[in-house]
Amino acid sequence: MKPFWNLHDIFKRISVVNLHHNLNKITMKNIFNYLAILSLFAFNACGQSTKQTALTPKSSPMENTISKPGNPYYSNTDTKKLNVTDAEWKKVLSPDLYAVSRNADTERAFTGKLWDSEAKGTYYCAACGNKLFKSDQKFASSCGWPSFFEQENKNSVVYKEDNSYGMKRIEALCGRCDGHLGHLFDDGPKPTGKRYCMNSIALDFVPDNATIQNGTKDNLETITLGGGCYWCTEAVYEKLDGVQSVVSGFAGGKNENPTYEEVCTGRTGHAEVVKITYDKTKTNLDEIFQVFFTVHDPTTLNRQGADVGTQYRSVIFYKDEEQKQAAQSIISQLNTEKVYDNPIVTTLEPLTKFYVAEDYHQNYYENNKNQQYCQMVIQPKIEKFEKIFKARLKK
Ligand code: FE
Repeated sequence: MKPFWNLHDIFKRISVVNLHHNLNKITMKNIFNYLAILSLFAFNACGQSTKQTALTPKSSPMENTISKPGNPYYSNTDTKKLNVTDAEWKKVLSPDLYAVSRNADTERAFTGKLWDSEAKGTYYCAACGNKLFKSDQKFASSCGWPSFFEQENKNSVVYKEDNSYGMKRIEALCGRCDGHLGHLFDDGPKPTGKRYCMNSIALDFVPDNATIQNGTKDNLETITLGGGCYWCTEAVYEKLDGVQSVVSGFAGGKNENPTYEEVCTGRTGHAEVVKITYDKTKTNLDEIFQVFFTVHDPTTLNRQGADVGTQYRSVIFYKDEEQKQAAQSIISQLNTEKVYDNPIVTTLEPLTKFYVAEDYHQNYYENNKNQQYCQMVIQPKIEKFEKIFKARLKK
């Protein structure tokens, strides 16, 4: 991939930065008063000197995982037992899946997508991503629910006695998240004689050599970045070719499941971040970083424009050594080239947990385009991004 950014151009064009939180806090009545103040701050992120440079993107080794944006607990590789509150599950699961997984509802027979599927592949817990069954452990059952005679490994599925509805049954639960999957009966085929009778909706099926959404699972990678307000960064990354999804959320703080209001106090230690899932055959970490260092000012400590506080810090949350080194490398290069007058203060922090922000923060720009602050603050940033990364926009 050819280098396509030019910092000289980029920083000439950066002028308006993360101000919409402040705009959001004011009433429409005061908007014009505020806009007068806005102009005092709007240009303070572009006071850096600029220097033309070209960075050569390098490929980044990636792991093989399925990402489920919006559900931070979902992982096909992490087998550690989850302890998530019911309220949190309610936030991250669809209502139908929540009803089955957390409230032990049963889908109607013959209505699920997977009950008669014979496709080759792997079945995962739809709530947490835990590997449950392989397709060669499935058998054709006439019961109307996907049925298996054996679980993938001894920790895949756990059991509980279920005496509901006047019946004595064995409830089958996900071994990682304890989510309800279905029931276990003794009328299955050889060699086990068991029948794992599962709700289709509680399962994610990944065909062998699958294409998941827009990329194969082998090609998907995630990175979590904080560049001030997440409404802007989300809106920008959504437009970059190769980006499959962007989720606004929080990372790097002390308490679990923080709310936006809590993070806004600056006392939780969390930063506003975006979790970007991208197809590494279409973009790469270097390009992601190039956009990152284009759309925010990495030299102002705990501040982006008028947004002040540690929640607006410039931060790269790395999830492995490769990401950390790639981040160190680009920061070192930008500092060496003296692209900015001041040194970069972007912090590198290990990603421990990502919390999805409240629904109304997701796709904020797309959902609020007519609001004045979206038009006046976010839209200009998008336009600049689109100009600079013209050849790299989604078609
Ligand atoms: Fe699970």
